[in-house]
Amino acid sequence: ILSSPANHHHSSLLPALTRAFSSATPITATLFPGDGIGPEIAESVKQVFQAADVPIEWEEHYVGTEIDPRTQSFLTWESLESVRRNRVGLKGPMATPIGKGHRSLNLTLRKELNLYANVRPCYSLPGYKTRYDNVNLVTIRENTEGEYSGLEHQVVRGVVESLKIITRAASLRVAEYAFHYAKANGRERVSAIHKANIMQKTDGLFLKCCREVAEKYPEITYEEVIIDNCCMMLVKNPALFDVLVMPNLYGDIISDLCAGLVGGLGLTPSCNIGEGGIALAEAVHGSAPDIAGKNMANPTALLLSSVMMLRHLNITDKAERIQNAIINTIAEGKYRTADLGGSSSTTEFTNAICNNL
Ligand code: NAD
Repeated sequence: ILSSPANHHHSSLLPALTRAFSSATPITATLFPGDGIGPEIAESVKQVFQAADVPIEWEEHYVGTEIDPRTQSFLTWESLESVRRNRVGLKGPMATPIGKGHRSLNLTLRKELNLYANVRPCYSLPGYKTRYDNVNLVTIRENTEGEYSGLEHQVVRGVVESLKIITRAASLRVAEYAFHYAKANGRERVSAIHKANIMQKTDGLFLKCCREVAEKYPEITYEEVIIDNCCMMLVKNPALFDVLVMPNLYGDIISDLCAGLVGGLGLTPSCNIGEGGIALAEAVHGSAPDIAGKNMANPTALLLSSVMMLRHLNITDKAERIQNAIINTIAEGKYRTADLGGSSSTTEFTNAICNNL
């Protein structure tokens, strides 16, 4: 199973922390269990880490019940300080509470920690059959601007306006990250996804920045693909793609499409990269309120996110061991959660992974 060509997602996130790792000194990482199914799947990660003897000490922070005036959100200042200090963390899904006067939790994290790139590897899991068995791509999403700048207003009655912000600085930064990632992980191609034929100024600037960076990486093939065509190509033949880099909104949509290619949201991890080498790993999925508290959630996405965190920290042996145990458990097929067609609970599936370590 492990030599399958589709299973070569052993990529590091680079630039990795320079902190020297020795098994005698545990590394402190921030853990946000989050909302909904978050605490249940975070428990799985803690259990698996313990079983695999991973030298991580968790510093847990919960989403508050009141707005912290220092962050204008339910995230406390202390929790943000924890990530800044540790520079590495794992985050469960966070629901956006309904009401006014606060910022979305995820947006607060992105802005406050300057999490400029969201890296989402998407690969076929050997042993879990979908329409494709050869998906192996990585989407890199600009995470701070675009349509998600939050600048919306009513112009006159019946007319609203939403501003899409693209800056040269943020575009260069994410493009640089994408090429750097491709090179460091032995990937051959970077595709910039855009709609510059219509969004001439904004996506035009994004593309211009990608081209500039591409020139510095002659060993990496660079191409530009219009977003609509990209969707068609992804569904028809996902093996055409390697690393994809794109503005915020496109990245949000395309990465869910990619999750669908390999078996759904229960399986896909991600990691947010911030300035100063911060890495905050998180599952792609949300808080799944429909199954929260029922011991039904698939912890794979958060577990694979924690594996990305370990690779970032260069704790490669443990990362590999945990990833192999997850893949083997799913491939065996005896213990699978409901989203993968099985009937195991979160706990049973987690125990099976621990037994396969
Ligand atoms: P969702 O991802 O929570 O759920 C979509 C569907 O996928 C649901 O049917 C759910 O049961 C299923 N699902 C998701 N994760 C699963 C898992 N691990 N195992 C099994 N099934 C799983 O999306 P939603 O319902 O649109 O959003 C719910 C809440 O999550 C909202 O408040 C939203 O704002 C928030 N959200 C947060 C994040 C984040 O923290 N990064 C991301 C997306 C959505």
